[in-house]
Amino acid sequence: MPHRAERPYHPDTRFIHGRFHSEHWNYADHIVPPISSSAAYRLESVERGGAGFQEFANPEFRPDQHAPIYIYDRLDEPVRGMLEENLALAEGAEVSACFATGMAAISGALGVLSKAGDRIVAHNALYGCTYSLFKNWYPRLGIEVDLIDVRDPDQLAKALEPDNVMVVYFETPVNPTLDLIDIAKVTEQVRAVNKARDPKHRRVFTVVDNTFATPFGQRPLEHGAQVVVHSLTKNLNGFGTDMGGVVACHSLLQPDLLLYRKDFGAPLAPKSAWPVLVHGLPTLPLRYRQEQASALKVAQFLEAHPAVARVVYPGLPSHPEHELAQRQMRDRDGEFAPGTLLYFILKGSPQEARDRGADLINHVAQDALAITLAVSLGQVRTLIEHPSSMTHAPIPVEDQVAGGIDPGGIRLSLGLERAEDVIADLERALATACPDA
Ligand SMILES: *Cc1c(COP(=O)(O)O)cnc(C)c1O
Repeated sequence: MPHRAERPYHPDTRFIHGRFHSEHWNYADHIVPPISSSAAYRLESVERGGAGFQEFANPEFRPDQHAPIYIYDRLDEPVRGMLEENLALAEGAEVSACFATGMAAISGALGVLSKAGDRIVAHNALYGCTYSLFKNWYPRLGIEVDLIDVRDPDQLAKALEPDNVMVVYFETPVNPTLDLIDIAKVTEQVRAVNKARDPKHRRVFTVVDNTFATPFGQRPLEHGAQVVVHSLTKNLNGFGTDMGGVVACHSLLQPDLLLYRKDFGAPLAPKSAWPVLVHGLPTLPLRYRQEQASALKVAQFLEAHPAVARVVYPGLPSHPEHELAQRQMRDRDGEFAPGTLLYFILKGSPQEARDRGADLINHVAQDALAITLAVSLGQVRTLIEHPSSMTHAPIPVEDQVAGGIDPGGIRLSLGLERAEDVIADLERALATACPDA
């Protein structure tokens, strides 16, 4: 009889219980993992302290397999440690390491995979702060970043030619346009490059930001990626209460990630790990399925609306990569999981569409209950934003069009409100912003 930690319970059940047993905290009576709050830890002898330092980030002492000796929160800590085990399990990874924010996780993953003189190949459409990290900071560190369309095999092959390329980095779905990138196709090209490399030379790692799809809806490691990063601030927390980030990967990278986090700082605080462990992960399947069902209803409503030029939602047959979506975005039951976010574009010339977008959003901000104007995504409340008049406001409309930003493009992240209420709020806002439609 296999132990309950090993029995094949459904993944939804594992989101709640994890592996059941944790070396990180041996609590016998609690149902809910206790919250811990201790910056430093009592050591019963100098020998135990010495052993703790020796075991930390030592590949022979994986903290999920041996009871760790706690020394200081920035090194290892029980609540974060338990969350890391459950997140690794959710993502199908051997290990994970949690950081204070999604950006800290992204810089942590890239910080252990690249150094001065190396090169990162990244998709040209990225989360704004990741773009800024690549554009404003990496050149200062002597790390070159080559921004290309990784969906184009010729561009990717050319970008992979220099032997200082260490990382291929992208998001799928891409923010905010919800374009999709074929993870298996990219990693196949990367594998061929690695095979041709001198065996002594470091391999190219494929790093995927899986924030939009979550491990419920897509597991990039199953498609050949080596490293997955997430903002825990989004659907993994799910309630919008805390920030966080995670890197999930092979155990070989764990020592470097722990050492990086120890020295650069920004570990996830236990008080922010706890809500993800206790509320976020256990409810993710339920929330995701519900938000996804609403996203489809709202996408269908918008697609039929005369003021809307185009709706981008991987669950609609009209999505340009609908076939890829069906292959790549799957939950653990094998059900199609096209996600909880959609993007739609209003009709009109670039300037008209931008003005209508701003009017629509302002109407929502002042009138709607079921939709909230805010950045961020992936929480129980439906959030809306208009990149053209918000994040990209300083860029002239003509330049937005040239740069692939649709002036009439609006991103919607579905929450748990009734889809009919979200639709009614959108209907009123569209009638106000586009009265002649
Ligand atoms: C929010 C987000 C991030 C950054 O996460 P923070 O927790 O805000 O630092 C990175 N990538 C994507 C796709 C995101 O949506």
